[in-house]
Order: sequence, then C-alpha cells, then structure tokens
Amino acid sequence: MGKASRDKRDIYYRKAKEEGWRARSAFKLLQIDEEFNIFEGVKRVVDLCAAPGSWSQVLSRQLYLPAKLSPDLRDSDLPLIVAIDLQPMAPIEGVIQVQGDITNARTAEVVIRHFDGCKADLVVCDGAPDVTGLHDMDEFVQSQLILAGLTIVTHVLREGGKFIAKIFRGKDTSLLYCQLKLFFPLVTFAKPKSSRNSSIEAFAVCENYSPPAGFNPKDLHRLLEMVGSPSGGDDLDCSSGWLEGPNKVYIPFLACGDLSGYDSDRSYPLPKVADGIYKSLDPVQPPIAPPYKRALELKKASSHGIQELEKLSLDS
Ligand code: SAM
Repeated sequence: MGKASRDKRDIYYRKAKEEGWRARSAFKLLQIDEEFNIFEGVKRVVDLCAAPGSWSQVLSRQLYLPAKLSPDLRDSDLPLIVAIDLQPMAPIEGVIQVQGDITNARTAEVVIRHFDGCKADLVVCDGAPDVTGLHDMDEFVQSQLILAGLTIVTHVLREGGKFIAKIFRGKDTSLLYCQLKLFFPLVTFAKPKSSRNSSIEAFAVCENYSPPAGFNPKDLHRLLEMVGSPSGGDDLDCSSGWLEGPNKVYIPFLACGDLSGYDSDRSYPLPKVADGIYKSLDPVQPPIAPPYKRALELKKASSHGIQELEKLSLDS
C-alpha cells in the first residue's frame, strides 16, 4: 500500500504524521487516558516495549514538557520516564531509554535502579511479539509479555498505581483477567477507537495496585499458576461470586475515545490542498535499527549483483 493510499484508508496513520507522533498507537494511549484519566498525579512512569516511541512521546508531552515549563520545579522534581525495548529508539526529550528484553530479570534490575528506591505511579506495556497469524500461539506469546510486564510491575509499581497492558482477546482472556485481578481490584478491558475492530487487540487497564497481603515478588509465578489452567475458563472464579457456571468470570469491556471521533475501520477523503495535489507526509521517525533492515540490505544487494550479496553474507 502506498503512503497516500494508506493516508486515505487509515485516518490515524495520517493524523499521527500531521501531529508529529512516531506511530498511530499514540492515539490509543491518549484515548485510554480520556476515559480513565491515567496520567493524573503521575510523576514516574515505565514504558515497556516502547519503540518506535509514540507512547513515550505522549508521556513526554503530557507529563515531562508541561512540568519543565513550570518555574517552581527543580530538575530533580521533573517527571521520570523510563522506556524499554529490544530495539534502539531515537531520543525523546525527558525519556530515559533502556535497550533490553522485558522477559529478562536483568532488564527489570536496570529499571529498578533508575528509580533509585522510589516507585512508579504508572507502568504501560504496548508489547507485541511478531504476529504469526496463529491466534492461539499469538495470544500465548502476548500473554507471556504481559506476565513479564507484571513481574516488573511487582517490583516497581507503588500501591495504588496503574498498569496498562496490550492484550490479545482469545480463549484465555478470562484467565489473564483473573491473574490481573489478584493484584488490581479494578481491571477493565478497553478498546480505543483508534484500535481497529478487525484487530483482536485490546488494553487491560488495571487500577489501584494492591498485591495480596505478605506478597513476595519471588512467588509471582506460583501464585499465577494457582489461578487456573490455560483452558480451564469454567474453573475460574475471580468475580464477586454471584455469577454461575461459564458466566462466573464477568469481564468489564469498554470502548473508549470520543465515540463521534474518527472510526479506524473507515476510509476518509484526503484533505483538499491549494494546488489540488495532496502530498503525503513522511513518517515522523522511522525505526533506527528495525529487524527487517538486514533483509532490505540483502534485497538491494541482490539487485546489484551476486558479488555484492556474497560480500554482505560474509560480513554478517
Ligand atoms: N508503544 C510503541 C509506540 O507507541 O511506538 C509501539 C510498540 S510496538 C507495537 C511493540 C514493541 O514491542 C516492538 O518495538 C518490539 O520490539 C517490542 N517488544 C516485543 N517483545 C519485547 C521484549 N521481550 N522486550 C522488549 N521489547 C519487546
């Protein structure tokens, strides 16, 4: 799909470029905030799986940049935003970047060190594995990322704090919901308007972090396993107990974002311009080291001749 055609078919893609966001995902976080007020009172945030950085941009614009303009705030009082991804990310004002794997304990240690004994008010996680198209597999890998995020949450989030995580809706959604409910009395699955209806993605909005009494983060996985087996939805009971059988787990699901706003599943005409020729904007910040970079290099080299290709293969 060409840029102009995508501009037409994906209004949030076009708007992201117009407003200077690195990715259309920025609107998802903004629309979650419209509904849940997630940034209220937030001073310290962790952005898990942050590249190319549109959520970090939202955090910077909503929290860091306004605070920086305030004449009363010293540098040490400015909001702290720590962003982590496997991929490197171009810099964003007010955002500390950590390149690492969130499923690795050492990454969690690096994040904790940045907080220097203090706790975060908010942890967000927009992590997604490379989607295979096999829904069960994608959902499983996605849930592993969320659980890695939850591990970090148990180390860095303050009591009362919030955790927002991307989920893939599927047969184990109720299991995940119950696991999150162990730590958060209020869990809502939200679908921002900018997330297409055709996509299985949604976001778990978990409020008021309250780990069980005497909880030790070392016991997290044992505790989560006690919730139920992956396909045992009917055995789960994390509701208030008044629902029966398969309805035992009632998951609050909410659409969010201005309902009269743009519909991500619709095409919109391109804006009229003075000379009549609409010029598509370039992406705000292309990924600086995407995993497909090598494949592109090889493709380019193959069109220049086999010797170049062999040279590249020897270099790698
Ligand atoms: N929120 C980002 C934004 O607004 O620009 C978009 C995130 S993108 C949908 C998903 C990201 O998850 C990718 O950049 C990928 O590198 C990252 N990711 C996937 N698995 C990861 C892992 N185990 N540790 C760290 N990052 C991971």
